Amino acid sequence: MARLPTIPLTVAGVAKHELDSQAGPASPPVTESTAFDAASLAQGASYRGAYVHVPFCRHKCHYCDFYSFVDTENRAQSYVERLEVELKTSLEFIAGPLETVFVGGGTPTMLGADLLRRMLSSIRAVLPIGSDAEWSVEANPETVDEAVADALAQSGVRRVSLGAQSFNPRLLKALERDHDPASVARAVGLLRRAGVPQVNLDLIFAIPGSTIGDWESDLCRALEIAPDHLSAYGLVYEPNTPLAVKLRKGAVTRLPEDDEAEQYEFVVETLAKCGYERYEISNWSLPGNHCRHNVLYWENADWWGFGPSAASHGNGVRWRNIPRLATWLERGPFAPVEEIESLGMDGSAGECFMLGLRMMAGIPLERVSQLLRSGKRARSRVQSIANFTADGLLIEQDGHLRLTDRGLTIADIVLSALI
Ligand code: SF4
Repeated sequence: MARLPTIPLTVAGVAKHELDSQAGPASPPVTESTAFDAASLAQGASYRGAYVHVPFCRHKCHYCDFYSFVDTENRAQSYVERLEVELKTSLEFIAGPLETVFVGGGTPTMLGADLLRRMLSSIRAVLPIGSDAEWSVEANPETVDEAVADALAQSGVRRVSLGAQSFNPRLLKALERDHDPASVARAVGLLRRAGVPQVNLDLIFAIPGSTIGDWESDLCRALEIAPDHLSAYGLVYEPNTPLAVKLRKGAVTRLPEDDEAEQYEFVVETLAKCGYERYEISNWSLPGNHCRHNVLYWENADWWGFGPSAASHGNGVRWRNIPRLATWLERGPFAPVEEIESLGMDGSAGECFMLGLRMMAGIPLERVSQLLRSGKRARSRVQSIANFTADGLLIEQDGHLRLTDRGLTIADIVLSALI
């Protein structure tokens, strides 16, 4: 599924480990805390988005550290029933109207058409969702058939995000993805015929063994499908994934940094020529097709996460639901959570810089002044911003502070200095 920004994992609304399969590492610590405790701490939050995590997948990809697994116990129906309880109990904290709903995973389309309809209709019936809210659902190309495409379109889903990653069987194999490259175009055709207006494709570059020619060919195949939105992330070797283990053992070789940079530059140039606007370091869209839900993350706004391992953020407080389906199913009505973190003013300001500067538009200057007004690190951040600006890595332009083209190439260094 989509790799969200390289920011604290909690923001992505997903957890690190598969804990429901035998392959999982240790169980999470036992905790009695619930989302009620966390939300009580986050008093004053104004939730703008909802994230729903569906943990089921048909196969576990080797690079994936999202909380997802192959369910051998047929728990999809129990999952939806438990989710309905969680939706209702959260209402005392969510005033609405919500601007976005994002159903991710895992593979939400693994639920099949009937359960998908039921889940989406429960979300719509229970949560205070704005009339023009963006509705996104993630899907694996192999799990989209006519019935699923109709269920999505008829439930009002406006945006489907498909994990394509590559069209090259050799590179898909390197990632241990199990879909047929041809299924991507087939799924997009079904979704469009059903009436889903926006489609995103996720792509991964810098896959072991890939060349610039491979990447060019992947981009060409993606562009032939004419998606409304494209996300392209360099492969990350997340700790404890099978791919990271292979790397450690020397069974795969990481692509040299220069080759990765070349592939990134290639996608930047190619998509610009094809009319796609880069609005975030790793995200492009045709005009008017930004993913509003992801923008909400980059604005460090408040959102509520539902389902096992889903993360939430409210008024500087972050929490993550237990990444274990069995525990989440058993306990309620509020979701059991494994960690609650209060960021404080300094921590929140750091996150706002780290996230906001990922967007090409940057951060409005008024907001920058607000963020620099207080906190222990304010003075050093002022100095860092001055230095980066003098070095041509940051620029004040059109009422915003943003990374320059040169700054974008070493964004990690600039952003980590401002956290
Ligand atoms: S399809 Fe693969 S990458 Fe996506 S959530 Fe499932 S296992 Fe992870």
